[in-house]
Amino acid sequence: MRKVKIGVLIALCAGALAAYAWAGQAQVATAAPDPKQVEDLVYANRILADQDVLDGFGHVSARDVKDPSRFLMARSMAPGVVTRGDILEYNSEGEPIDARGRAVYSERYIHAAIYRARPDVMAIVHSHSPEVIPFTVTGTALHPVYHMSAFLGSGAPIFEIRDAAGMTDMLVRDNKLGDALAKSLGNSAVVLMRGHGYVAVGNAVPQVVFRAIYTQINARLQAQAAQLGAVKFLSPEESAKASVSIDAVVSRPWELWKARVGKIE
Ligand SMILES: [Zn+2]
Repeated sequence: MRKVKIGVLIALCAGALAAYAWAGQAQVATAAPDPKQVEDLVYANRILADQDVLDGFGHVSARDVKDPSRFLMARSMAPGVVTRGDILEYNSEGEPIDARGRAVYSERYIHAAIYRARPDVMAIVHSHSPEVIPFTVTGTALHPVYHMSAFLGSGAPIFEIRDAAGMTDMLVRDNKLGDALAKSLGNSAVVLMRGHGYVAVGNAVPQVVFRAIYTQINARLQAQAAQLGAVKFLSPEESAKASVSIDAVVSRPWELWKARVGKIE
């Protein structure tokens, strides 16, 4: 009888241990990034490469919906070939949670600093678009020339890295530079980076992809328009009104851009 009781006790303990182990696994599974968010991020990488906003360089991230202090972004690689397995999680300081030996982007602090400074921002794109570069170095401000780029508002501010850190290699390599960039961004949707590129922010992955693409298109159109004569830009009031209208239909081009890049892995 006593032996049977001990046997039952051992069985109960084993069961409890198994349940504990299962709970541990479940906890790990719960902490894994949201699959839909990972899918959106892979599409964003592929779309931005397809639209020539990103080439071998640049990156796109999303604030982690399961832990808003963290964000998701690919390991260091060309955006056009990113797959689900390449998406890593980063903490609020821009360090990977578990990179498993894989290299990460040196400019990840752009993302970390902006997520810290702007609770409203849910997604970020950093691009070196050649069409935007002239506006970062000439003093000619990037203003919205049409309703599609109304998010540029009263003009994109410019981040001057020299003011923040003197002579550098131009890259945002630490949180101090990231914080300075976030300060230049302020409450804007886009900040240009002198002699480097730009950063677009948005309230979701489709919106930030839209903004990154139309920032580049606006730069092209503004340069063309300036050759024809004086440019009449959208006024701040027109920009505000047009932004509301366009934000409501961002999903339309998003679905088109997804279809263009086809199936993702
Ligand atoms: Zn860069």
